[in-house]
Amino acid sequence: MTNPGVKATASAHCSTCDALCCRLTVVLQPEDNVPSHLTTYLDSGLHVMARDQEGWCVAVDGSHMNCGIYESRPTVCRRFVMNGPYCKAVRAEYTK
Ligand code: SF4
Repeated sequence: MTNPGVKATASAHCSTCDALCCRLTVVLQPEDNVPSHLTTYLDSGLHVMARDQEGWCVAVDGSHMNCGIYESRPTVCRRFVMNGPYCKAVRAEYTK
């Protein structure tokens, strides 16, 4: 799933990224409305998006590497800023 075109130092766009932010832990908020089969609970009790064996959120559409529930994606995902500091840090870690 790696994309050699992804460079941590370059400006990125979701359309050319392998949805790297979708490997992060997504903590669900009370206002989120995500189908329960896509979620799980951590030992700590946090309600989160479930992840597959490779670490991607189970809601990722693997054929397009984008969100399969975009219209109802969690609040945390809506707040993630493309090319923001966290986005850059995630890409830098991924391309090490
Ligand atoms: S819910 Fe959608 S945007 Fe959020 S991590 Fe999962 S696939 Fe990515």
